[in-house]
Amino acid sequence: MKVAIVTVGDELLAGETTNTNATWLSEQLTACGCRVERVTTVPDRVKAIARVVNEYHAEYDAVVVTGGLGPTLDDVTVAGVAAAVGRSVEHHDVAFEWLTEHGGYHADDLDVGTADLPAGARMLPNTVGVAPGCVIESIYVLPGVPREMKAMFDNVADEFSGEPVHTRIVVVDEPESALLDRLATVDERFPVTVGSYPGEFVRVKFSANDPTVVATAADWFADRVVLAEE
Ligand code: ATP
Ligand code: MG
Repeated sequence: MKVAIVTVGDELLAGETTNTNATWLSEQLTACGCRVERVTTVPDRVKAIARVVNEYHAEYDAVVVTGGLGPTLDDVTVAGVAAAVGRSVEHHDVAFEWLTEHGGYHADDLDVGTADLPAGARMLPNTVGVAPGCVIESIYVLPGVPREMKAMFDNVADEFSGEPVHTRIVVVDEPESALLDRLATVDERFPVTVGSYPGEFVRVKFSANDPTVVATAADWFADRVVLAEE
């Protein structure tokens, strides 16, 4: 599955909050065998959310949206996602029932709009917070609070799958510029994806669905470079 992640929040764009949700979700989805193709952060604005979610919904097998789920004025994600798929936002009976019967909330204590979701959505209960998440078409809407987001994702993780990607990293003690010929050759010879990540040493990452192909390519390359002693 090819997946896009959309993180919502003005505070992320202002650099006030580190976007740990994007990193965590990317890691989990990759571990499920998915390919994460986009991570985009958008402000708390209905139109901005709707535009990006609509585009990614058309292009990818699933979209995971986090942040801005609550009923406060600055939380507009539900409206944005509903607009992306041309649906209205409605009182959701199942969400309301869950909150009042399992969530331990009295109907009078719930803020207006807490149980509102895009029409026809499947509700995802928030087991460690209040605001419910949902799935509409193939768009997964999760809370922004990391603890709540993780718990909710764990409950739907088995809906994300794909052929697992195997990787191996070769750490090289040569300047990246000196490696260009060998990088090009290994890329040409073997059906692997090659990534080169310079730092103190150059980490060259080989990935493919077939572990034998990864091992063959990595061994070929490792035999032709100066390996770093880490
Ligand atoms: P609530 O229902 O509590 O309002 P919410 O789904 O509306 O939750 P936000 O209002 O977007 O979530 O964010 C709640 C908190 O979660 C913020 O204070 C922020 O610190 C944190 N948060 C939001 N998005 C992220 C993110 N992408 N990475 C890390 N932390 C985040
Ligand atoms: Mg909020």
